[in-house]
Amino acid sequence: MNGSELAAVLDTACERLASTGDELRELDAEVGDGDLGITITKGAAAVRTRLATLDADALPNEVVLAAVDAFGTANPSTYASLVSSGVKAGAKAIELTEVSTAEVVAFGRVVAETIARRGKSAVGDKTILDALVPSLDAAELSADGGALEAAITAAATGIAETAAIAAKKGRAAWAGDRGIGVADAGATAYLRFLEALR
Ligand SMILES: [Mg+2]
Repeated sequence: MNGSELAAVLDTACERLASTGDELRELDAEVGDGDLGITITKGAAAVRTRLATLDADALPNEVVLAAVDAFGTANPSTYASLVSSGVKAGAKAIELTEVSTAEVVAFGRVVAETIARRGKSAVGDKTILDALVPSLDAAELSADGGALEAAITAAATGIAETAAIAAKKGRAAWAGDRGIGVADAGATAYLRFLEALR
């Protein structure tokens, strides 16, 4: 996949992702302020606007950096800023050439490490990491061509497992036991993004 093919994939995914805004707002509002819906819908729209300005010969890393910069600056939110700094660190560490599964997994590992460090969070805290880390593990172990499906299944499982606990990080942690049974909104947004890539 070259840069312009990647941009086309991301554009379609962001178009689809915008339709999850109400679901994410409601999930986030159960334990927080509900702003995740607007973070995702405005962020996805900003990504599409930015992608449309790229040259046809933009490299995959340039496409990713442009997209995540637009997402991170579309509106102020801790989620957008953590995701954006994670993806920027990924793009700095890993050069995407074919956008292969191996490259994307290596890239995702840097994203996860960066979010964990900057968010002072770990797997099991009920954050995006509970979907992201298992999705990378599953993609890495998957057969040729099945990486995205394996990642989606693993992310959904991670979210279901952590729905049973109270959040340990972010605004959702303030809700304490009230959050038990509620899926993490940020992790769900990541799952919806993976599904939108299908
Ligand atoms: Mg929120």
